[in-house]
Amino acid sequence: MEFVSKHNIIDILNDNGINERLFRYADEIRKKYVGDDVHLRGLVEFSNICKRTCKYCGLRCENKKLERYRIEPADIVSYAKNAVEKGYKTIVLQSGEDDYYSVDKMCKIISEIKKYNVALTLSIGEKSYEEYKAYKDAGADRYLLRIETTDKNLYGQMHPKMNFENRIRCLESLKTLGFEVGSGCLVGLPNQTIESLANDILFFKEIKADMIGIGPFIPHPDTPLKDAEKGSFDLALKVMAITRILLKDINIPATTAMETLKPNGRIIALQSGANVVMPNVTATEYRKKYEIYPDKICINENPDQCLNCISAKIKSIGRTISSGYGSHKIG
Ligand code: SAH
Repeated sequence: MEFVSKHNIIDILNDNGINERLFRYADEIRKKYVGDDVHLRGLVEFSNICKRTCKYCGLRCENKKLERYRIEPADIVSYAKNAVEKGYKTIVLQSGEDDYYSVDKMCKIISEIKKYNVALTLSIGEKSYEEYKAYKDAGADRYLLRIETTDKNLYGQMHPKMNFENRIRCLESLKTLGFEVGSGCLVGLPNQTIESLANDILFFKEIKADMIGIGPFIPHPDTPLKDAEKGSFDLALKVMAITRILLKDINIPATTAMETLKPNGRIIALQSGANVVMPNVTATEYRKKYEIYPDKICINENPDQCLNCISAKIKSIGRTISSGYGSHKIG
């Protein structure tokens, strides 16, 4: 399979006769470059309060139907501690953009969690260079910030009052500061073209991403996109597979949104290029409220159930659970 130009990528995205071959090839590249280990990241969804108005997201501040919560710093640290005790080597802290968590508060949370000898990833949105630097100095190792789409016009339609250039600036700041940087995109946004998805994939290569998360868009009933069509599972899987083939040794999660659209979607993704899963380690009471999209999986489970369930599935396909930190740079 040729991947030299944007043209090739567009052709592959348009050709559904090629899918099974593409997925098999991505799986071979995954095996060759990152092996059979699957890295588990324990995800703490610590606040669903958000000042943004992203058109697709159920957490957008204009959604008045959502019951909001924020978890206090001491409890965030204790969820992380429990996850480490269960064997997680990476904790991911994710939230809406909630200014309650000042730089000081965040840095305290970070340094407390880092005492447990764990890799720490943040996914808390757009911040200034100085704020990112403070998190890095406090010990954070990685940061996830999806570009969502590289189509500037579409980006503008989806993100009122936000700015594409600032999102790029954030990714550059994070790189400069030495974070391992994760990004990614949504597949199937209204008005998104195949060409723009090809551009997204090339963008991931250009920024030398360490991790790329790709998920289908799922319309949320309490957002302006409630009547839009949902993204295609197969197309999202193809974008992910091509990303693996092009970027070779990066970390690629089998995203929760994949499984929301298709039973066993994460296992299918793990067999089509992915090598990471992010089980939820947040207490059950909060899960249904972190409703970025509807019908999210695992909202009635607890952390132990999620770990046991996904571990068994991973082993059933002949893969192993990693006992390392699973960094892109140091293995
Ligand atoms: N506030 C953080 C975390 C956002 S939630 C940030 O800005 O980075 C994590 C991801 O969920 C988003 O990056 C987005 O790609 C995805 N997401 C949001 N709404 C979605 C929807 N309706 N369908 C599928 N994925 C969605």
